[in-house]
Amino acid sequence: MRIDLHTHSDRSDGTTSPREVVLAAAAAGLDVVALTDHDTAAGWDEAARAVREAGVALVRGMEISCKHAGRAVHLLGYLPDPEHEGLKAELALILEGRDERMPRICAQLRAIGIDIDEQQVAAHAVGAAAIGRPHVADALVTLGVVAHRDEAFDRFLAQGRPGYVQRYAPPLTRMLGIVRDAGGVPVIAHPWGRTDTSALLADGLAELQGLGLAGLEVDHQDHSPAQRDELRSIAEGLGLLVTGSSDFHGAGKSDHELGCNTTAPDQLERLLELADAAARDAGRRTPQVVRP
Ligand code: AMP
Ligand code: MN
Ligand code: MN
Ligand code: MN
Repeated sequence: MRIDLHTHSDRSDGTTSPREVVLAAAAAGLDVVALTDHDTAAGWDEAARAVREAGVALVRGMEISCKHAGRAVHLLGYLPDPEHEGLKAELALILEGRDERMPRICAQLRAIGIDIDEQQVAAHAVGAAAIGRPHVADALVTLGVVAHRDEAFDRFLAQGRPGYVQRYAPPLTRMLGIVRDAGGVPVIAHPWGRTDTSALLADGLAELQGLGLAGLEVDHQDHSPAQRDELRSIAEGLGLLVTGSSDFHGAGKSDHELGCNTTAPDQLERLLELADAAARDAGRRTPQVVRP
């Protein structure tokens, strides 16, 4: 059984529709795929409608932009009730922050001589609930300023580069409680990927577990083999779930093909038990796995 628990569609910064993600997951030989767009459940219904056609099971989730100890941390929330008021309110604030950032990014790029405006960025985010830097990157490719998304991040969009603008992100510690309260299961995405990891070492992770953290995405392309070994042993020591996933973005991210990392079946089984328990505790009817 092959399970990939982290993918993006064009409802955020992936390049294919939710239906296409589900079909591509089946074509890649997966049995289970999770759609986890940034900060939105906007792709869930379309993905669910494609399940029977594709013949792959769907876990509905989202990757929520949070901050922790002064750093961006991405929190995967699996199977939360998308109608939970607290969750809805936070996602609305995050999406608003994404929208508000765009004119400022464009102004900063114009200040260094790149003739770009929000409309050009929006043209690369048609149908996206969550607009982001990858869409700016795509606009820069169209303008001929860079060759691909990576170059746009390296030169202009990464933190410390001239087009970087901060945006709203809720504290991770608060979001853990909200995801649980919405009947979902919170797992930190790529905890040691491309960042200062000091707040997410064993002690810090144990504290977060006390606030509801359920698991760690250990097998991710941004982690080296040594990091994976170390994170896995921390997770096992603490009794946290261990997940693995592609973080597929369609053509938007190379080396993140569907199924390039996978989650063990017993870990998914535990995740689904935790989702049931969280829903029960919260007294909520939450999304179930959609099976073909
Ligand atoms: P944003 O959501 O607007 O803050 O942009 C972050 C997103 O950009 C991440 O989810 C990644 O998909 C993508 N990203 C981050 N760094 C890079 C990079 N160096 N090259 C390509 N894409 C990146
Ligand atoms: Mn992304
Ligand atoms: Mn991420
Ligand atoms: Mn992701």
